[in-house]
Amino acid sequence: MAKGQGKLYLDKTAIWKHREWRGLEDTCYDFSQWCSLWGKLLVWAMSHPEQNVKAIFRYRWMFNYLTVPSFFARIMAGLKGAALKGAWGNMLTLVEMVTDLLDTELSADAHLHPGSRKAEELSKKIIQMDELIPSIIGAGFPNNKIVLTQMLPAYLPSLINQHSPVHYIGESESYGLPADVCPLPSLEAGVAIDDDFPKVGCCTVSCNMPCDGSIMTTPLQDRRHNLPTIALNVPLRWTREEAQDYAVEEYKSIIAFMEEHTGEKYDWDKLREACEIWNQQTMCKQEKWELNRTALSPHTGSTAWMYRIFEYQYACGKKAALENDLKVNEYLREQVAAKKFPKTVRHRAIIWNTPANMYANFNNWILDCWGIDSVAEMIDFQGSELIDTSTNETMLYGIAKMAQGATMRVHTKGGCEVILNDLWAKYQEFSADMIIMFDQISCKGVGAINGLFEEGARARGIPMCWVKQDLMDPTTFSRRDLRACVNTFMETVMNEQPVDPTLVDFDDSESW
Ligand code: SF4
Repeated sequence: MAKGQGKLYLDKTAIWKHREWRGLEDTCYDFSQWCSLWGKLLVWAMSHPEQNVKAIFRYRWMFNYLTVPSFFARIMAGLKGAALKGAWGNMLTLVEMVTDLLDTELSADAHLHPGSRKAEELSKKIIQMDELIPSIIGAGFPNNKIVLTQMLPAYLPSLINQHSPVHYIGESESYGLPADVCPLPSLEAGVAIDDDFPKVGCCTVSCNMPCDGSIMTTPLQDRRHNLPTIALNVPLRWTREEAQDYAVEEYKSIIAFMEEHTGEKYDWDKLREACEIWNQQTMCKQEKWELNRTALSPHTGSTAWMYRIFEYQYACGKKAALENDLKVNEYLREQVAAKKFPKTVRHRAIIWNTPANMYANFNNWILDCWGIDSVAEMIDFQGSELIDTSTNETMLYGIAKMAQGATMRVHTKGGCEVILNDLWAKYQEFSADMIIMFDQISCKGVGAINGLFEEGARARGIPMCWVKQDLMDPTTFSRRDLRACVNTFMETVMNEQPVDPTLVDFDDSESW
């Protein structure tokens, strides 16, 4: 992005007055990918036009999917070269899978198709699973579809439109649930209270992840789904070897439960295939981290963590996601080999604690405004071990281990030393010169050790910028408030001048 990006924004909505110029090659590439995005969205919209329109009127969260082009404009902002190509590859893969999932859920939904035999038959083939459980375990049921319960109605909309969780959080609070709970479980509870989960599935697998807030919201969701349910109990002290036998037994029990309710026999060969694909996906991720350890870290921007969460939770063991990984890594490798980085970089930051869904393009802003490259971040480091596929037992061990390191949980569980020690290790490994620490004020487990982070950074002489946020609730802290934390830190502690002064302060409170 040429300097002066802030001048492109319309006041409050931050909608662009016109497209940005990224240089001839990148601008042409960007336009070609926009065509591809519109093509995919139109194909999806026209595949079930009546059903999709009904869904928009039935479900409040469906509206957010109409704002997807604006979301893409924000998360592609300023990107160039391999980062731009990688971001498009990641997000178009996500679009393909999400539109497919929307078709699966909406076609079987008893809310949209009451009394329909066809919908009922489709529904019998669906297994609901908590979004924190990696869906790879469902690969052994090739005749069934896994739906991550909260992904379409709650998690993805919170990234696409910052205002989308506000109504549902309000519903939870009006219902009498505590107002100081994390917005993620509060949002999920609100969707259940409004009866806004599609009514699909033959059974549900819930879990105790990632935290106590999420556990408390499960019964509310369970009442709405009213399906046979089993809970996958995942050990808290997940780094300990003595917890692993128990973790494997839990997986055996959910397989037996799913066999009982689907009437299918578990296919271990299909699971092996998926695990082998997942191992290659993991190796691709390891290569991205390796490339980002170089002086010209190429994998930057918000889609890096967003795609990783989606891949780990839903696209694990899926061939289309692996194909995207291989293609993206090729772009990244080429750029590093050419010794290029097409952006101004002044600092390399480790970003720690859970990122703010309500400001999904925060990474793009810190790079464009202050030249801070987010070389690695906590939310990205889940499921980094390979699965031994030699026997059924070793596969289950690997999958049980993978689930214990789920999104958020890999650092927020296992003892405080997990999140502390890994931060200092990553700081060294990625040759960072600053830390951006999200103070997610509702994540009380992490908040309890804020003093230890501060002490540790001070003892090591590491500049650490605290950014207060409330995950999915823009009414607590706005995007502008998040930017103000970084601006003050960069001006006073780092003694820096902005790379693009027009981006330092602007009002985007009405932006999706
Ligand atoms: S951010 Fe913290 S409190 Fe919120 S769901 Fe994640 S682990 Fe739980």
